[in-house]
Amino acid sequence: MTPARAEIVVDLGAIRHNVRTLRELTGVDSMTVVKADAYGHGMVEVARAAREAGSAWIGVATLDEALALRAAGDTGRLLAWLTVPGEDYAAAIDADIDLTAYSTDELAEIAATGRHARLQLKVDTGLNRGGASSADWPALVAAARAGEQAGHWTVTGIWSHLAASDEPDHRANDAQEAAYREALVVAEDAGLRPEVRHLANSAAGILRPSSRFDLVRFGLASYGLDPAPGHTPDLGLVPAMTARATLALAKPLHAGDSVSYGHTWTADTDTTVGLVPVGYGEGVPRHASNVAQVQVGGKRRAVRGRVCMDQFVVDLGGDLPTPGEDVVLFGPGTHGEPTAQDWAEAAGTISYEIVTRIGGRMTRRYVDA
Ligand SMILES: *Cc1c(COP(=O)(O)O)cnc(C)c1O
Repeated sequence: MTPARAEIVVDLGAIRHNVRTLRELTGVDSMTVVKADAYGHGMVEVARAAREAGSAWIGVATLDEALALRAAGDTGRLLAWLTVPGEDYAAAIDADIDLTAYSTDELAEIAATGRHARLQLKVDTGLNRGGASSADWPALVAAARAGEQAGHWTVTGIWSHLAASDEPDHRANDAQEAAYREALVVAEDAGLRPEVRHLANSAAGILRPSSRFDLVRFGLASYGLDPAPGHTPDLGLVPAMTARATLALAKPLHAGDSVSYGHTWTADTDTTVGLVPVGYGEGVPRHASNVAQVQVGGKRRAVRGRVCMDQFVVDLGGDLPTPGEDVVLFGPGTHGEPTAQDWAEAAGTISYEIVTRIGGRMTRRYVDA
């Protein structure tokens, strides 16, 4: 079989292993977060693997994502948390999705469906992004309790999100956890008895046991990537994604010749170069120009010159491999290939962005290693 020009290979066995490992670490239920097409890994397939590995909950941002999971046959507990006015809450309630409300306006929209919802409330404890501010929290809680007594919904959860969980010593972590505990007391005093309280994402779930409560929302770590480089202990998580391409061409280059747009790299000795048929159209970061590495036929090779829309060039150091050779951009790192974390460091970003953006014209293939 001819290898694909460029593809993403996702190891669902790694996903299952990671989900199980994280669940065992925390001792509480996990919510596997599969928003943004499961961080580029494929939402439906990852959600299925996560369920098989015992993930009690799946989390997504949008209602469209949640509805797509239901359409694909997912029947377990499923939370969505990012809506705008006018969303089709009725469809989401009919599909048995747990909704999240940040405001009393959202409560009014949900009540107007005339359906009985499962509803979670989000309190903003200092990220200052979504959620009810501490000033608005008592009113949101009171309205949620009144709506529960009126039969509009059951409040199934109360949650928040941390700003600096990847920096375990950041003072925001203590402050936010304390604010979250206070918000829980306010809710309890108002008569709410949520089934799940959750605060932690991957980094907090691993590094901050006090933040685990009833449930940890694991995104990045489920994919085997490190949510807090430099802080995370070795848990044996396995990166699930390999991004590979097929070498299109190899040819000699003379000393003094410059490569790719803008001629930003010039060979100082005679060498050979190879053409890799992916570029920023596939989500390969242009910021990786001249700094990232790939693995060609088992050897590390440097990206030379600018990453273009459809292609980039690597230095083959005098070797002339046959076109068709395997080029691994990143993978688990177990065979000497770079990792998504290596690419993130080279391109000045985080591994979240590397895996989530890679794709474009690449095909996706699932394996179970
Ligand atoms: C994306 C997201 C997560 C998962 O975060 P990771 O750092 O990938 O574990 C958890 N909670 C919320 C609200 C999110 O938006």
